[in-house]
Amino acid sequence: MADDAYKIIDHKYDTVVVGAGGSGLRATMGSAEKGLRTACITKVFPTRSHTVAAQGGIAASLGNNSPDHWTWHMYDTVKGSDWLGDQDAIEYLAREAPAAVYELEHAGVPFSRNEDGTIYQRPFGGHMQNMGEGPPVQRTAAAADRTGHAMLHALYQQSLKYDADFFIEYFALDLIMDEEGACRGVIAMCMEDGSIHRFASHAVVLATGGYGRTFFSATSAHTCTGDGGGMVLRAGLPLQDMEFIQFHPTGIYGAGVLITEGARGEGGYLTNSEGERFMERYAPSAKDLASRDVVSRSMAMEMREGRGVGKDGDHIYLHLDHIDPKILAERLPGITETGKIFAGVDLTKQALPVTPTVHYNMGGIQTNYHGEVVTLKDGDPDSVVPGLFAVGEAACVSVHGANRLGSNSLIDLVVFGRATGHRLAKVIAPGTKHDELPKGNEAMALERLDSFRHADGGAPTAEIRLEMQKAMQAHCAVFRTEELMAEGIEKIDAIYAKMQDIKVADRSLIWNTDLIETLELDNLIAQAEVSIRSAHNRKESRGAHMHEDHPDRDDENWMKHTIAWFTGWGGKGGDVKIDYRPVHDFTLTDDVEYIVPKARVY
Ligand SMILES: Cc1cc2nc3c(=O)[nH]c(=O)nc-3n(C[C@H](O)[C@H](O)[C@H](O)COP(=O)(O)OP(=O)(O)OC[C@H]3O[C@@H](n4cnc5c(N)ncnc54)[C@H](O)[C@@H]3O)c2cc1C
Repeated sequence: MADDAYKIIDHKYDTVVVGAGGSGLRATMGSAEKGLRTACITKVFPTRSHTVAAQGGIAASLGNNSPDHWTWHMYDTVKGSDWLGDQDAIEYLAREAPAAVYELEHAGVPFSRNEDGTIYQRPFGGHMQNMGEGPPVQRTAAAADRTGHAMLHALYQQSLKYDADFFIEYFALDLIMDEEGACRGVIAMCMEDGSIHRFASHAVVLATGGYGRTFFSATSAHTCTGDGGGMVLRAGLPLQDMEFIQFHPTGIYGAGVLITEGARGEGGYLTNSEGERFMERYAPSAKDLASRDVVSRSMAMEMREGRGVGKDGDHIYLHLDHIDPKILAERLPGITETGKIFAGVDLTKQALPVTPTVHYNMGGIQTNYHGEVVTLKDGDPDSVVPGLFAVGEAACVSVHGANRLGSNSLIDLVVFGRATGHRLAKVIAPGTKHDELPKGNEAMALERLDSFRHADGGAPTAEIRLEMQKAMQAHCAVFRTEELMAEGIEKIDAIYAKMQDIKVADRSLIWNTDLIETLELDNLIAQAEVSIRSAHNRKESRGAHMHEDHPDRDDENWMKHTIAWFTGWGGKGGDVKIDYRPVHDFTLTDDVEYIVPKARVY
């Protein structure tokens, strides 16, 4: 190792949670309230986690504003997942959802109210009454348009009530795994002073959020770099269903900030470089208000065919300038402000540059409905990895399958965060003695840190990151063909090879953002490799994965989860091993029957 040896500070806990978004905080609370000695490590202050940005709301069949039943919620989620979700886990989610929302209410989330004092619920895409027969159900509980913000603040306050230790602005580097394949702890760096912290723990819960930043345009925060997924891949474990990436049609070009569907609801429309309202060609009746995947795909088609706007022809215009400014000010004040700040555009006079924008990762670390990480071992696809858990967007339970319904992520965070707490209490007795950690447990984390810290090549981190993001946006977005993805794999491999020639300018350990961003890029690019190869491998169209050369869903050959290992470490590039895990075609209880696959039409 180079010049200065790193100072290691040791800690011992029953549970260590990595991440303080909605899922991490709920798991922290759950663990601490059961009397387990719990630590929560987070690279940003808890209330800055991406959960804070969620606006729309949280789904649960409370039935306050229209008739509802948890089995209807289960049906819609299975259908939304395009039958790739595991029905035992989806049953658990839908059944537990109402209790989880009431728990949030009691924790202090200021939900919007109906006249009679009950929690207000709004309609959301794909949520219907009566086992999909319709009409739309009002299932999404909301705290105005700040639901995630309210939830995160309430959960943080609650977790302070319990005796959990917070390690804020600590960056988790790598897991400590033993020879039997069990997780024994985690190594993190304090970003303020560069000290290295080794946490020995009986369980590590990864709640690190999504990896939206593999793409050029994402609605997710810059901190959504899939660090948990990166750690899991380096531990030699696979990730599941990484080809399924949800795009929202209208993210602001460049900034990626979300423009709500409500903008088109109020009469907004899209045009190409010829000023044509092209949605009339793709969706003659619904036009600009067709479903998210259809609109996103049509926009991508226009850009591919050379009718995108701007110097690089890589975006589309959203027009609201024909709408009465008074109406804009009244109904879309947030959007008007967003347009001004992030695109420098006065919406009442100018068109807004938008592009289909990555919004959510359905894939991630595979778990069962207790939050336990599972892997394929000795022929068992659901073999539990001792000591390792995952929750939230980082995890793939899988309840969202090939496509997530709006407002089903926030409920996933709290239901499975809570389930993880229950499980931890079952498998760990408070204060259990710690066996000695495996020898050399810090080597992987420190060697990786040190080599990046002293990297002195020709390609700055920001340059490699931008190339990766542009390649993923061009080759693994809403519009996928055999040829396009094969070209994308070659590009990503070449970009990955450049990681060997990376340049980090700052050598210090004090607030070295250059180094942190490099570690994040290393996590992102491994997941870019896994995502594009999983996408290229799946020869069908299902949910968010629309393969132009295989436009139909193929249940006979492809109703199975992709699991993929990254084996190309060290700049070799590329190598990804792919296998499969059967979709659970059973429910959790006899209260509900297996929902048989049908065509997915709305
Ligand atoms: C703009 C926007 C709007 C949305 N609106 C909705 C909505 O209305 N309804 C809905 O259901 N869903 C919505 N979603 C999706 C949903 O908000 C997210 O999927 C969810 O909040 C993710 O929560 P999380 O707990 O998994 O992780 P996050 O909230 O992303 O938190 C991740 C945590 O991990 C920590 N972390 C990460 N890496 C490290 C590391 N290396 N070391 C230490 N700590 C680390 C971070 O500090 C952070 O605390 C929206 C998403 C976006 C982007």
